[in-house]
Amino acid sequence: MTPETTGIHHVTAISGEPQRNVDFYAGTLGLRLVKKTVNFDDPETYHLYYGDGVGNPGTIMTFFPWAHAPGGRIGAGQLVVTSFSIPATSLGYWTERLVESGVRFEKPRDRFGETVLTFEDPDRLRIELVAAEDGRQGWDDGPVPAEHSVRGFHHVALAVETTESTVGLMTGHLGFRRIDETEGRVRLAAGEGGPGNTVDVIGASGFPRGSMGVGTVHHVAFRVPDEETHLALREEVAALGYNVTPVLDRNYFRSIYFREPGGVLFEIATDPPGFAVDEPEEELGTHLKLPPWLETRRERLEEVLPLLRVPAGEGV
Ligand code: ZN
Repeated sequence: MTPETTGIHHVTAISGEPQRNVDFYAGTLGLRLVKKTVNFDDPETYHLYYGDGVGNPGTIMTFFPWAHAPGGRIGAGQLVVTSFSIPATSLGYWTERLVESGVRFEKPRDRFGETVLTFEDPDRLRIELVAAEDGRQGWDDGPVPAEHSVRGFHHVALAVETTESTVGLMTGHLGFRRIDETEGRVRLAAGEGGPGNTVDVIGASGFPRGSMGVGTVHHVAFRVPDEETHLALREEVAALGYNVTPVLDRNYFRSIYFREPGGVLFEIATDPPGFAVDEPEEELGTHLKLPPWLETRRERLEEVLPLLRVPAGEGV
């Protein structure tokens, strides 16, 4: 069998001040902070992971908060919109919640038969909530009641100059198939399809290219079930001529990275071992977790990293 990805694993973006980021994602959107660690390549800054109760692949939004970094520009060659899924019956709840939280959103609109709310996070990253049929459970102990909680990603949208080369790579080698199309937008799905396994590729010919910085997405990761598939897919991508990194140990998953033809940075990440590898499930996100090779620097890191307050759950 040819190695394939089965959907979205995580999305990683660059934010500004970390507390504001926590307030928005763990507060307003009600995701669980599932891991508080550091950027392995720049350990004096955080790497924050949000997700459902356990941080299942397909729900994981991560940030490098760089309080003093310059703003980026959203544009071609990037993942331009990150869409989360909410229950189809929760639109009223969410419009009210966004209003009460002071988040301005665009007039709800229809896309492929589902209602979409579009807004920006505090760093101007573009976010959507899509009211969808979604069998997954969200985080049920956060500030959003379980019945309305965000279920995980709905899809991500990639903006590229020519959709065909990106679509060709994804359908020919990464396990995606074309499932729908509207003007300038091709919808792809992998694995079981549906929310969390869907990617839209948008033609952005003539649009300025994006530049990396605060308020932009750094990369998107697609998931594979095991290390064997991961290695096989690495071989395949390398054989296609892509400049792909060696397998990197990210502690919670293994990763490879390469840039797709449209300029978006792709990562392939393994489902195992997951976030409970160094912290019990009930305590996810409550301790500063460091990989073994950074433990010797813990004292210094705890001194320079700002303390973060996580918004309490409903019942607290
Ligand atoms: Zn990543």
